Amino acid sequence: MREAVVTCAVLAAVTIFTYPCQAQSPAPSDPDEARIEDVVTASHILTNEGILDSFGHVSARSAKNPDRFFMPRAMPPALVSRADIVEVGLDCKPVDANAPRLNGERYIHCQVYKARSDVQSVIHTHDLAVIPFGLAGIPLQPVLVQAGFLPLEVPLFEVREANASETKRGMLVLNATLGDALAKKLGAGPVVLMRGHGDTVVGRSVREATVRTIYTHIDAQAQSAALALSRKITTLDNAELEANAAGRFYQTEHPKKGK
Ligand SMILES: [Zn+2]
Repeated sequence: MREAVVTCAVLAAVTIFTYPCQAQSPAPSDPDEARIEDVVTASHILTNEGILDSFGHVSARSAKNPDRFFMPRAMPPALVSRADIVEVGLDCKPVDANAPRLNGERYIHCQVYKARSDVQSVIHTHDLAVIPFGLAGIPLQPVLVQAGFLPLEVPLFEVREANASETKRGMLVLNATLGDALAKKLGAGPVVLMRGHGDTVVGRSVREATVRTIYTHIDAQAQSAALALSRKITTLDNAELEANAAGRFYQTEHPKKGK
């Protein structure tokens, strides 16, 4: 079964959710089970695409109880299966006190779900493609039509600022205070970069968050390649971003037909 899913991911990493491969079974009737199945599939796709490494995690808010969400126990995302999924409260504690150990960075998920009622899925990566943009003083920008969901400049979370009062500090989001600071930097947007670490991406579904994660990765690769050719590059502009927000991104005809 796992081989079948990975094969689907190789063939159609982005469209797998929209056009399921024949090897996939019908979606579960239970809405939470359907979301959990998407968490497992997204973990495999993003690993296959080289975006998730041995770390990084995908979660989904519960459709039945929005004060809870589902995420894998602390383990490599490539190996995640249904049995590894843990139900977690927004207090960042597992609902089942006997649940297996969770990832220390679960506060990314708890605090974003608390701050954003519209968010149904959170993905945290250590994507190497986006990390240079947090180091070089060059903002990550939408340069591809498929990345038109990005803001004109993707915000950057500087953990050193959020940790400024701590004498002992690190890079990971291991408590609610840092999770809150990250959620604040994310604001109402789809993506926040994390300096020297990766990014956090949100969506109205696991599928949307997954596609956004993939196209943030591809956009970063394209922008890096363009910057290697020239310091002066052309990004999407506000009109193009507004067209995306209005759902006219792939429109082939001018919206004001006849003019
Ligand atoms: Zn991390």
